[in-house]
Amino acid sequence: MDQTVGYFSAGGSSAVAIKLAIDQIQRVMYTHIDDQHPDSMRFVKDCEQWFGKEVEIWQSPFKSVDSVCRYNSFIRSRQTGAVCTKHLKRTVRKQFEYENEGNLRIVWGLDFDEKDRASDIVSNMPNHEHLFPLIDREMTKEHAHAVLAASGIRRPAMYDLGYHNNNCIGCVKGGMGYWNKIRVDFPTPGSPERSMTEPGTIPHDSSLPPKTLSNSKKPVEILRKFEVLTSEILSGAADVPKSMILAFFEIF
Ligand code: SF4
Repeated sequence: MDQTVGYFSAGGSSAVAIKLAIDQIQRVMYTHIDDQHPDSMRFVKDCEQWFGKEVEIWQSPFKSVDSVCRYNSFIRSRQTGAVCTKHLKRTVRKQFEYENEGNLRIVWGLDFDEKDRASDIVSNMPNHEHLFPLIDREMTKEHAHAVLAASGIRRPAMYDLGYHNNNCIGCVKGGMGYWNKIRVDFPTPGSPERSMTEPGTIPHDSSLPPKTLSNSKKPVEILRKFEVLTSEILSGAADVPKSMILAFFEIF
């Protein structure tokens, strides 16, 4: 193997995995997406100091989730996955791997709970050798974050806002609960700058405690109002005004 590269995602686990293998690593590569929380770049720079090694910042020409989805007129499917992951992350890495065909050893940040994903990587990328420092040490994400904290490295802000990963703000793979929280914390998904400046949006106030799913739910009185309306429609109760029915279906 000519060189070993650490694939850094600006997440807590990959930071610790790279630190653990740093003596074997020649290059550290981070693929930036404009939709990441701005604190991600602060974390990248802190980790650069921690690693004692430059972090190379790569980026797709699409730059953002919005532009790649619009260009492809597509977001995601069960069969092919998310188009943003493909173009903004995988294609950029493939370019890196193409330039180093056949001579890479790759350090991944997958943790002990992600052993299946690690097996998939080994099967799908047979041209390269793969190292999983966290899995080798049976370290979970919680262990990795404890190492970060003990090392005095402040983890990316998204974790402290209550998210499991330092993903893009408004990840297209997120479920209903995730999006209920995102629309409160970042009312205009996508670039954080847009969220801070577009009319009608309410930037998250960092002096407030992180919002949780329980305090981002819809106002109870709205739900009650529609519960009554639903039962009236379903039971055929007389005289529900057409405008109310239309309003109901607009909301849901
Ligand atoms: S983190 Fe989510 S939104 Fe960002 S590239 Fe990956 S799948 Fe797309």
